[in-house]
Amino acid sequence: MFTKHPGGLRLLTVHAHPDDESSKGAGTLARYAAEGVDVLVATCTGGERGSVLNPALDRPEVRADLTRIRRQEMDAAREILGVRQQFLGFVDSGMPGPDEPLPEGCFAAQPLEVAAAPLVALIREFRPHVVITYDETGGYPHPDHVMTHKVAVEAFDAAADPKRYPEAGEAWQVAKLYYHLALSRAWFQTLHDAMTERGIASEMGELLAGWPDTPPALVTTTRIECADQFAVRDAAMLAHATQVQPGVAFMAHPREIEREVWPTEDYHLVRSLVSGPGSAAEARGSVGSADAVENDLFAGVRAVQGA
Ligand SMILES: [Zn+2]
Repeated sequence: MFTKHPGGLRLLTVHAHPDDESSKGAGTLARYAAEGVDVLVATCTGGERGSVLNPALDRPEVRADLTRIRRQEMDAAREILGVRQQFLGFVDSGMPGPDEPLPEGCFAAQPLEVAAAPLVALIREFRPHVVITYDETGGYPHPDHVMTHKVAVEAFDAAADPKRYPEAGEAWQVAKLYYHLALSRAWFQTLHDAMTERGIASEMGELLAGWPDTPPALVTTTRIECADQFAVRDAAMLAHATQVQPGVAFMAHPREIEREVWPTEDYHLVRSLVSGPGSAAEARGSVGSADAVENDLFAGVRAVQGA
């Protein structure tokens, strides 16, 4: 089903719900797509159990038709970003309360081999050089985000092994695996401080004060310049109209300040089969030291590809 671009570079990003591709790493997707990279978003679930976060749209008829509406929003965001997108067909797990069980049949309740199989097949068909997903924490404590991490790591490894998932196509070794460092505490703090210094009211103080006790952030190995894509990113985010309240939280800060103090989207290189910072040898040593920061997800891949 995918038209192969011979010799071209391919990037796959694996997300839990429609809207996650637009809130985490959307500038990166838009930038690489504009450069001619074949960019594919895999969305594990349909976002059926998402809340309607936009008060203007929180109406019974919208809530009743959320599955269809979120597909339409995803289509609009995909067009704006200039990428391709595919749902993997699982059902949103929702956000259960502390002692609440997961809904039966949902994505996070699937055995790992069942949940990973469609992604293994997709990787073997699309043959990406780079895969991006969430870290072990999911980046956000939603069961679907944690499951997405597990599934993406499983599929990255298993897709390369012809003995695993033998019914899912011919083996393919992805060259690099990255985790998002988006929406980090450091990012919020930097924007908050920059606004405060300039006498601009920041809505991020409350969020920072209540920041949960999370493990230290992973080392930044890779920074992708995305300031020119902020407008596209914002438009894609706003296309998920039920999921975002315009003008609040991370939509609220002045873009010229973001351009000045944090013009990149940042990543942690987890696995690399090519030479360069983060290659298997270096991963044991100095990866992430300031001089090892990459500015291209395809660093080390382009030489091999001749792209
Ligand atoms: Zn999500």
